[in-house]
Amino acid sequence: MTTIPTKSKTTRVELGTKVFELDEAKAVEALQAKRVINGRATMTFNLLPLKYQWAYEIYRNMKANHWEPEDIPMQRDIEQWRSESALTEIDRWILRMAVGYFSAAEGIVGDNIQHVVRELVTASEIKLVLGRHAHEENIHADSLLYMISSLGLNPHECEAMFEDIPTIKKKNEFVSRISKSLRRDIDLTDPDNQRLLAKNIFVFGQCMEGTQFYGLFGMMLSLYRQGKFPGIGMMFRYTLRDESNHIEVFRNLFIALIQENHELWTVGFKQELTDLMKEAVLLEKEFIRDCLPVAALGLSSEEFESYIDYIADRRLEGVGLDPLHPGLVNPLPWLAELMDIRKEQNFFEGRVTEYQKSSSLSTVDDDDL
Ligand code: FE
Ligand code: MN
Repeated sequence: MTTIPTKSKTTRVELGTKVFELDEAKAVEALQAKRVINGRATMTFNLLPLKYQWAYEIYRNMKANHWEPEDIPMQRDIEQWRSESALTEIDRWILRMAVGYFSAAEGIVGDNIQHVVRELVTASEIKLVLGRHAHEENIHADSLLYMISSLGLNPHECEAMFEDIPTIKKKNEFVSRISKSLRRDIDLTDPDNQRLLAKNIFVFGQCMEGTQFYGLFGMMLSLYRQGKFPGIGMMFRYTLRDESNHIEVFRNLFIALIQENHELWTVGFKQELTDLMKEAVLLEKEFIRDCLPVAALGLSSEEFESYIDYIADRRLEGVGLDPLHPGLVNPLPWLAELMDIRKEQNFFEGRVTEYQKSSSLSTVDDDDL
């Protein structure tokens, strides 16, 4: 028997410049079934109606910031690398360290998104933004290959760096222990498992991408500021702009997960997260002391480490936790300026603007370029 369609009550949904008419009853039902975890399990990608506006907005913002490594000229970097006087041994060491660390770290982040977080969340718009997040980790991995091939680095030496340097190994163990335990069919109605996922989202977004990436980012931008590695430095600036979106995705995801499962937010759990950040900061400082010749670049080691404290506190505050060093002022304001390329115009010979124009979402108000 077929039912004769009757005129049902509709509701208007706006998304940027797009307008949709949805059946009201169905829209309400879909919205109620949407949850970060333990929502309606569906293979179809029902985005409408959106419940997590932030997820779609950040997704659009990420797309507008699209970049391709090969569009960045590397000629000057290659000349500097081949020249005997343009770079010091320390400059070369830092470059190798950055390429080696990030080659592996970008992969770990992407893998955790695809095999843990994106698998466990149930809302489509969150899956959407996580798909883009994973794709950007692929772009970053690809940009590192471009650096390796341009300078003629030995890829095996880069890989070995990740396995042989104890302070890098410790940073890696810190994040992988929270990822491995979630790689099975876990029951997310169990609050202990929910806490495990919340910890994963906090550690990857706020501790790793949000804090432990910043030692090497700071070093690379410091070289860039001295006119060294102009192409590679530019790629790191684009990567950093992406990372700030990634931190934002995981921050919003964490907050939404806690809001929907508020019983997780206990004094003990907050302390556990704060302790994880303390550990992350400690490991990053150990890594800096062990591997990054900060003083040789004309920077103060004290200020550089204090910068890590400063960043960590912003991450803690971002998810509603108390800072470890209240009132700490950014000791390296120039770094913040270099990291913020949103205000710049016509950078990268207008290519990013072109990607944005060619996108079907170009009419959306992106004030980020
Ligand atoms: Fe990345
Ligand atoms: Mn990232």
